[in-house]
Amino acid sequence: MALYDELASVVGQKYCTDKDYICVSYSRGLDPVLPEIIPQIALRPENTEEVQQIVEICNKYETPLLPRGGGCGLMGGSKPISEDTVLLDLSRMKRIINIDEDNHVVTAQAGISWSQLNSVLFDKGFYTGNMGPGSGLNAAIGGGMSHHSGGGGGCAKYGKCTDNCVGLEIVLGNGELITFGSQENQFVEKPYCKLGLGPDLMGIFLGDNGTMGIKTTVSLKIYPKPPYFSGKTWHVKDHSYDYTQKMIIEMVDKGWSKDLGIYDFFFTHPPSVMGITTDNLIKSWGDISGGVVSYVHEAFDQQVLERNAEILENIAKKHSQKELGPSPEEGNVAEWFYGEQGHWQFYHQLFSLMGPDFFACTTEVMVPISRFPEILRKIDEWEEDKREELFECDAESGVSHVVMLNHNSCYIGSGLAATHEPDYKEDVIELWKDQLEMLSKTGACLYMCGQIGSQVLVDSNIYEPNFYNFMKNIKKICDPNGIISPGKFRL
Ligand SMILES: Cc1cc2nc3c(=O)[nH]c(=O)nc-3n(C[C@H](O)[C@H](O)[C@H](O)COP(=O)(O)OP(=O)(O)OC[C@H]3O[C@@H](n4cnc5c(N)ncnc54)[C@H](O)[C@@H]3O)c2cc1C
Repeated sequence: MALYDELASVVGQKYCTDKDYICVSYSRGLDPVLPEIIPQIALRPENTEEVQQIVEICNKYETPLLPRGGGCGLMGGSKPISEDTVLLDLSRMKRIINIDEDNHVVTAQAGISWSQLNSVLFDKGFYTGNMGPGSGLNAAIGGGMSHHSGGGGGCAKYGKCTDNCVGLEIVLGNGELITFGSQENQFVEKPYCKLGLGPDLMGIFLGDNGTMGIKTTVSLKIYPKPPYFSGKTWHVKDHSYDYTQKMIIEMVDKGWSKDLGIYDFFFTHPPSVMGITTDNLIKSWGDISGGVVSYVHEAFDQQVLERNAEILENIAKKHSQKELGPSPEEGNVAEWFYGEQGHWQFYHQLFSLMGPDFFACTTEVMVPISRFPEILRKIDEWEEDKREELFECDAESGVSHVVMLNHNSCYIGSGLAATHEPDYKEDVIELWKDQLEMLSKTGACLYMCGQIGSQVLVDSNIYEPNFYNFMKNIKKICDPNGIISPGKFRL
């Protein structure tokens, strides 16, 4: 009770609860199989000062504190792993603090979603470039910074969302508040760049999966949104991994985003898109095999757009069977994705198998473009090897998508689709871990680690030992009592 009373005195009774019927919702994530453990208390702070006080109280009681943004993580990152967890729901922290139009930076509280933030920016002619993850209708910018997210748009041009971060305000595990980026200089008023005063310590908190501190505000670069765009979609029937790679390499050789304005480049297996406007798409893709490539490019000038469209089309034609489109109804997912704001409805292929009882155990990783066909084939071989085991627990495996990151690497989406059936959970978890380990041992980098992925990295000896020791030491500095997100990375 003492813990509850102290926490409630910080946020108010209305935003603090220990009621099971509310706390139970925080035991769930978007995976179908990891344990659902109900936190003892859930809290919804409004500002940084409240977060600081909460951290201090949890320190005093040595109670685990788990930050949660939109709760859209797919690997158990915001699911408690012990019953004494205090769940810190940051969804009330969604205020835009400043839009610096002169220097192209937005600063907002970490709980704002990508869609809420960008809807305000769009009205001013700006966007965040990288639009966060495909779940950005709900996922928060703090969650994106914790995961190196991307997929909701703009990765080919702007890289990961963390590449665009120029400022972070962090509450450390001991309650100390630190601001990173240009504001490390105490005479800087507004954030404007990431690097400057010595080593890049902000990086410790980017992609940390919520283990090093609580992100309370985030500053991101913003960009004027180009008025012209074009999006095309192509069917790559045979040897689709290799032909897609050839297409990418030729586009990179001709200038990629810098010269051709490429904003996004996706490869996907049909049917892999679900969303409000995509019924017709699924129908038009229904009978095609192989893969589908879609790209979007932008320009500030109509003539430049048309010139680039022609160059890209000539390359795409060489490595594909036919164009799908031009309208979304005829299969042009690129037009829908960008022109009709499909950004945050572009789902994982395995979600297309989803019903009330089916969901994805995802294994998304980053790989270099030179290796993605080979790594996709390894996933296909893994599926072949595990066919019987998958069948026995009513699960499926597959490659979902490839999303280009700048011009040299890409995200690969893959994983299992599994049911909530209690009898199969243990087996599905083992298969999920096995696929994560297999992918990591090909040299792929897991970025959204959550609890399951972060533990596989340690348990399967993926880390270079000196790096892992260094990470453990950093954790001790940032969170001396180990109260924030305990268990992840076995920290
Ligand atoms: C339909 C769908 C599509 C998706 N598409 C993509 C995609 O395209 N690309 C992609 O990368 N991911 C994708 N995801 C996965 C996930 O939604 C993203 O990684 C997203 O960025 C998570 O953000 P969130 O706010 O929901 O974070 P949460 O799930 O709430 O948390 C994620 C992690 O960050 C930590 N965290 C959250 N907020 C903070 C904070 N303020 N301070 C410190 N730690 C914090 C949590 O403890 C947890 O470890 C998708 C998920 C779904 C359901």
